[in-house]
Amino acid sequence: MAERIKPAEKFKRERTPMKEQAPLERIKNFKEVPLGYTLEDAIAEAQRCLQCNPAACIAGCPADVRIPQFIDKVIDEDIEGAFLEIKKTNALPAVCGRVCPQEDQCEGACVMEKKGKPIAIGRLERFVADKARELNLKDAEPTRNANTANKKIAIVGAGPAGLACAADLVKLGYDVTIFEALHKAGGVLIYGIPEFRLPKSIVGYEVEKIREMGVKIYTDYVIGYVKKVDDLVEEYDAVFLANGAGAPSFFGIPGENLKGVYSASEYLTRSNLMRAFDFPKYDTPITKGKKVAVVGGGNVAMDAVRTAKRLGADDAIIVYRRSRTEMPARAEEIEHAEAEGIQFELLTNPVKVIGDENGNVKALECVKMELGEPDESGRRRPKEIPGSNFTLDVDVVIIAIGQNANPIVARSATGVETNKWGYFVADEETGKTTHPKVWAGGDIVTGAATVILAVGAGKKAAKSIHETLSS
Ligand SMILES: Cc1cc2nc3c(=O)[nH]c(=O)nc-3n(C[C@H](O)[C@H](O)[C@H](O)COP(=O)(O)OP(=O)(O)OC[C@H]3O[C@@H](n4cnc5c(N)ncnc54)[C@H](O)[C@@H]3O)c2cc1C
Repeated sequence: MAERIKPAEKFKRERTPMKEQAPLERIKNFKEVPLGYTLEDAIAEAQRCLQCNPAACIAGCPADVRIPQFIDKVIDEDIEGAFLEIKKTNALPAVCGRVCPQEDQCEGACVMEKKGKPIAIGRLERFVADKARELNLKDAEPTRNANTANKKIAIVGAGPAGLACAADLVKLGYDVTIFEALHKAGGVLIYGIPEFRLPKSIVGYEVEKIREMGVKIYTDYVIGYVKKVDDLVEEYDAVFLANGAGAPSFFGIPGENLKGVYSASEYLTRSNLMRAFDFPKYDTPITKGKKVAVVGGGNVAMDAVRTAKRLGADDAIIVYRRSRTEMPARAEEIEHAEAEGIQFELLTNPVKVIGDENGNVKALECVKMELGEPDESGRRRPKEIPGSNFTLDVDVVIIAIGQNANPIVARSATGVETNKWGYFVADEETGKTTHPKVWAGGDIVTGAATVILAVGAGKKAAKSIHETLSS
C-alpha cells in the first residue's frame, strides 16, 4: 500500500505523463494513441490529489463522479473499490476517461489547476475502468423494486445520453428498453470517434455491462419509421428522446456534390462503423485520397483529418477560417494532429470545389480571411480578404462544420415542441419536454456538444422520470 504524501510534496510533484505511440509509428495504424497509466503511474498521480472537501472537481463533473473518493482508493491499490465508486454514478468510465474535455470540466475545476498542473482525473478514471475490465470486476447489482419493476420506460437512441439514462433507471428497478436506429449501440462513440482515440471494443464492453444490468437494446430500429414516438407514449410509462444531432451541415458552395466530397459524419461512419480502417479484412467503399482537405476546426475535423492520414493520405490538410487560438477542438487533439504531420491552412475558407471531366474532385478553391470584432460566441469574426483566392490541389474534401437535428423523430412526436433548429425544447435541469410523458436530452436538445454533457442530461432525465413516476 503506498503512503499518503504531505501537501507541500503534492504541490512540488509534476503531473504524471502518459506514454503514447510515437507519431511516425501511429500514423501507420489505427491503434489507440495514448497507452494508459501503469499501476505505478496511477498511484503517483493519485498521491498528488489534495482530497478537497467540498471538492470542486465533483461540482465540475456532470456525471457527479465522487472523484477524491475513487482516487484515494487507487493509492491503496483497491481497484474494485475505486471502480464501484465511479460506477455509482457513471456507466461509461472507460469512455469518459478517454474522450471527456476534462480541461473544461473536472480538471478545469481542480484546485491544482491554479498551479497549472491539475490532477489527471481522466487518466485515472481510464486506468480504473481498464483495470476493472482486465480483472472482469462485476458491477453492483441493480435494486429489485416491486414499485418500479412494473413501470416501462422507452428510450430513443443508444448514445451516451440514452445509455446513461437507461443505466440509472435500470438500477432503480425499472423495465427499460432502448430503440437504436443503427446496427450497433454507442451513438457517436461507435460511429464517430475513431478507433485510435476510442477503441470500439471498449465502447462495446461498457454497452454490454449496461445490457447485463437488464436494459433491452433493440438495434436496427428507427423510431419515426418502425414505430412513432406517439406509439411509445401509448405503450410506455415514460419516453426519453436521446436521438442526437446526426444530420451533417454543408456550405452550399458549388461542387459540393462532386465525387470525393464527404460529410465528416459519412466519412467517419464508413471508417469506424463500416470498418474501412480495418482493411484489408473489410472492403468498405471509401475514397482513400492522396491529398485530403478537411474543412473545420473542431474535434470532428481533427478525427477526420487524422483518419485520412492513417488511410494513406500524403497530404492531410485542415482548412479553418479562424486562427489556431479560436479552434474549438480539444487542445490535445490539435497537438496530436500537429505531431502527426497534419498541415493547417488557417484563416482560410473554401469557396468552390473544382472537379475533373469525370466528376471527381481535383482542387478546392479557397479565400484568405482576417479576424475582425468578436461575434456572439466571443470569438473574433472572420472576414474575407477580397481577391485573395487560391487553390489547393486535393482529391478528397471532407466537410466538418457541424451537425443538425434529423427531423424523423420529432415528426412522429405529437405535442413535443421543437425550436427553430429542430431541437427538442426541454428543461435544462429535468429534461422535461412540453409533453407530460416525454423527456429529452443530449445533442438533440443542446445541439452538438460533448459526451459528458449528454451523460449528465441522461442522468437528470432519469432522476426526473423516477420522481414523476414514484410521486
Ligand atoms: C466525430 C466526433 C468526435 C467527437 N469527439 C468528442 C470528444 O472527443 N469528446 C466529447 O466529449 N465529445 C465529442 N463529440 C461529441 C459527442 O460525441 C456528442 O456530444 C455525444 O455523443 C452526444 O450524445 P447523444 O447521446 O446526445 O447523441 P449520439 O451520440 O448522437 O447518439 C444518438 C443515438 O440515437 C440514434 N438515433 C438517431 N435517430 C434515431 C431514430 N430515429 N431512432 C432510433 N435511434 C436513433 C443514433 O443512431 C445514435 O446512436 C464528438 C462528436 C463527433 C461527431
